[in-house]
Amino acid sequence: MSVQLHGLLGEALAANHRGRLASFIVDETSPAIALFAPQHAHANRSGDWYGEHAGKWLYAASKAAARTGDAVLLDRVRRVADYLVGLQDADGYLGNYAPERRFMRKQPPKPVTWDGAPQFRTWDIWTHSYLILGLLEARRHTGNGAYLDAACRIGDLCLRTLTSGGIDITELGNHFGMSATVLLDPALELHFATGEQRFLDLALRIVEQADRNPRLALLAQALAGADPSEIATGKAYQLLWNLVGVAKLHRATGDAAHLRAVVNLWRSIRDHHLTLGGGPWGGVAHRSREVFNPATVFSPCGYVETCSILAWLQLNRELLAITGEAAYAAEIERSAYNDLLGAQAPDGEDWCYYSFPNGRRVYTTYWRCCKSSGAMALEELPALAYATAADGVRINLFGPSAAALQVRDVGKVHLEQRTAYPFDGEVAIRVTPERAATFKVHVRIPQWAARASVAVNGASIPGEAEAGAFFVIQREWRRDDVISLSLPMRPQLHFRTQSSTQEARAPDDAPIRQEVLHFDYLAVTRGPLAYATGLIDGYKIEETLRVPSQTDSSWLETLPAPDAAEGPDVRVTPLGRPALVFSPYYRAGGRRDRTWRLTWMPLAPESK
Ligand SMILES: [Zn+2]
Repeated sequence: MSVQLHGLLGEALAANHRGRLASFIVDETSPAIALFAPQHAHANRSGDWYGEHAGKWLYAASKAAARTGDAVLLDRVRRVADYLVGLQDADGYLGNYAPERRFMRKQPPKPVTWDGAPQFRTWDIWTHSYLILGLLEARRHTGNGAYLDAACRIGDLCLRTLTSGGIDITELGNHFGMSATVLLDPALELHFATGEQRFLDLALRIVEQADRNPRLALLAQALAGADPSEIATGKAYQLLWNLVGVAKLHRATGDAAHLRAVVNLWRSIRDHHLTLGGGPWGGVAHRSREVFNPATVFSPCGYVETCSILAWLQLNRELLAITGEAAYAAEIERSAYNDLLGAQAPDGEDWCYYSFPNGRRVYTTYWRCCKSSGAMALEELPALAYATAADGVRINLFGPSAAALQVRDVGKVHLEQRTAYPFDGEVAIRVTPERAATFKVHVRIPQWAARASVAVNGASIPGEAEAGAFFVIQREWRRDDVISLSLPMRPQLHFRTQSSTQEARAPDDAPIRQEVLHFDYLAVTRGPLAYATGLIDGYKIEETLRVPSQTDSSWLETLPAPDAAEGPDVRVTPLGRPALVFSPYYRAGGRRDRTWRLTWMPLAPESK
């Protein structure tokens, strides 16, 4: 399958390629790679997570080089991968820590701290996990088997350490082990790449040790219906990456309980822990900014970590591949067009670490994790836009793009989308099989698209295009057939409430409940885009609104934006004050450092 994304996502990918991926790492002297030089590593006894950048860059740069045919970038991938492989110890170790702090050494017993961190915290397993993923991706696009061998040697070292080595993986990372059990994902990638049982054994060993730790017990808690905020510390990025691993474990074993555990937590995250722009969020009044809130908490100032968007995209990627369900594609599209693009600067170099529905855009500093995660997340998107199904092709994401897919019993099928999506809901999809053939085209109808209609070559297709599902068109497809999709994009209102209810029992045991805090908020979306406004009247960080109606959104007006290429704005005219203009969240307030975006507006109490 080859896919080119154009339009908004295509511009973001091009900026990523020109910016972050071309400049952050160029060779072994780049700071993120020089960390691995023996003189540096041997003196590193408590270093932070910075070793992760190597694997993340190898992963994203390999994909970008393959996608664009950039031979210079692919040469840099080879040079960096060769350098790293050349540093690997005879036992398979490829990290950047001094011998006495490596993950194979038993460390002193850990004190129980709020973040469940070992006494000598390292990120050794974490760094190796990204190195395995990076080396496997580099091998995929260069064909160099030495990268696979190096990745396998890391996996073998991990397996020895966690079995005969007497080490428990939950002692190797903070968040009660969740920063180490992420190794589940690369262990399974090694199993898929080699077919070797021992890497599946490694994955099962990790799950067994994780489930023995009562503070983590990921599978048991997920099956029992726990909220993600209740598992270990509730750290979003780590938990989501662990779930990516459990989804892959289901692919390897077929065990239905693994899938059930992942879907339980996915549903709870989707229902309670996402912003309007699809990013996992939390961190309100916690010691960590990066943990899920309890499901009942709502604050428009919650934190979205860009790393969590990456892991959420990957989790939806896995669930989409396993189930083929539209809901997972919908979440990929929502987070891509809103919170992911909203964290990226147009130069492709700067990223927000944290984004807020209501808050300031702050581009982060050189070494931060989120810059590499944002770059990786974008590079996931081309492979997710289209898919082959057993009986044809699936169109998962909308936006100007072109794809060539190899379909079983049909041959090559070219697909091309012409559209101004995500700004406009008219989508023309040209279907060109290499010869006339009968197969199914599954077209996703977004959740928000009430009264969508579908036509082929101008003739409308009867039947309801159910929102939130795939619409299936089976026919004999011929060169240049065109599917016309019409997805009405009316601005839509959204409401959220922050409330707190005090509960007690009277002396006669009768329940006493009293709501003691109640705030209502309003927000606006249009099609797949969340909307936000800048500072109100040029200086206010919030404004309490009285609105004409909460049930009918006809008072919201769609306006052409000053730059038509950036999609329309929405004019919100409350009672008793001049109108406010909302723009797509990703560009609201201007895509510059320190600009403000406000997504949620407090509602006047009497309006409810
Ligand atoms: Zn991060």
